[in-house]
Amino acid sequence: MFSNAVKICTINNFEIRVDPSWLIIAGLVTWSLSQGYFPDALPGRTGSVYLVMAVVAMLGLFASLLLHELAHSVVARRLGVPIKTITLFLFGGVAELEAEPKSARTEFWIAIAGPVMSAGLGVGFWTLSLIVAFGGAAAASVAVLSYLALVNIVLALFNLVPAFPLDGGRILRAYLWHRTGDALAATKAASRSGAFFGYLLMALGVLALFQGNVLAGIWYVLIGAFVLVAARSSYAMQRAQAAFEGTSVAALMCRTPVTVSPQVTLSELLHQVFLPRNISFAPVMEDGVLLGHIDRSVLSRIDQENWVTTRVGDVFVGLNDQVMIGPDVGIDALFETIRKTNRRKILVVQDHHLLGVITLSDLTRHLSLTPLSPSSGPRTS
Ligand SMILES: [Zn+2]
Repeated sequence: MFSNAVKICTINNFEIRVDPSWLIIAGLVTWSLSQGYFPDALPGRTGSVYLVMAVVAMLGLFASLLLHELAHSVVARRLGVPIKTITLFLFGGVAELEAEPKSARTEFWIAIAGPVMSAGLGVGFWTLSLIVAFGGAAAASVAVLSYLALVNIVLALFNLVPAFPLDGGRILRAYLWHRTGDALAATKAASRSGAFFGYLLMALGVLALFQGNVLAGIWYVLIGAFVLVAARSSYAMQRAQAAFEGTSVAALMCRTPVTVSPQVTLSELLHQVFLPRNISFAPVMEDGVLLGHIDRSVLSRIDQENWVTTRVGDVFVGLNDQVMIGPDVGIDALFETIRKTNRRKILVVQDHHLLGVITLSDLTRHLSLTPLSPSSGPRTS
């Protein structure tokens, strides 16, 4: 999801990454705290004092977001849901679950852990600010601690809004799932509330824009759009998983793919195979033996004037694990292969024999044909 994120460290075997978009937030927070919030809260200091306070507060916010995600991650790992990376990005943090929780109860505990951590941090920072104030420490440190207390309480409350995929939406989903036993229907309802909240935030943002509050306005619109898109795509993914549950590659592959001989020239390949049959990928076979594959990207790397003399046998891609999969593999594993290798067309091979070809469009076709009655949910019986 975050291909530009940079790994900064590893905590407790969780890889901590920062997406460059987080720097936007770090900059905005530092700027607005040093220019507005701290000068209002604690008048009469110099600009450099406010700047130092703002930077410390921003680092505190960074640590708070990280602890929120670590709380989700530690609980997830305890409950058997693997998590490898935590990424901080424009709208906060995200702990990337490698699999969906297997039960409503697991989902609930993973979801609630983050807001509980934020609320705890809020109370902790608030207590600390009281102690520090009572001890007669500098007013600047009290102001920074109070800010961190406030921001953690806001984080806990915002994340508890029942809008999927926010934590509160996940709790709502876990509750509905627990009550009805239908994970897909629960996701659908929780995503709807997520979409509603997304629209609401965007509307509030537009209202703020009209009132001249440009920064807050843009911010609400962006977060609203993010929640809306995330809610929709989470549901689509859940739906796809339900549609492919228990389906193997063999069930959806094309069993009679067009194959080509290594003797064929590239020009023949294009004009007699690819164009007339509207395909862009073909296994290369000789005397019934699978040698590899060739696709349009190989053609595009070779000068067009050489297509008449170059044969498929000279340029095809040999057999490798990246483009091969077994017939009994589940569709979820196929998706994983497609995601990892970025290839949309895969050879289905068993004991060196070509059984068929499976492409991303075979999957989407199946998806559009799968009825979405409640009975297609994975957990109804
Ligand atoms: Zn959370």
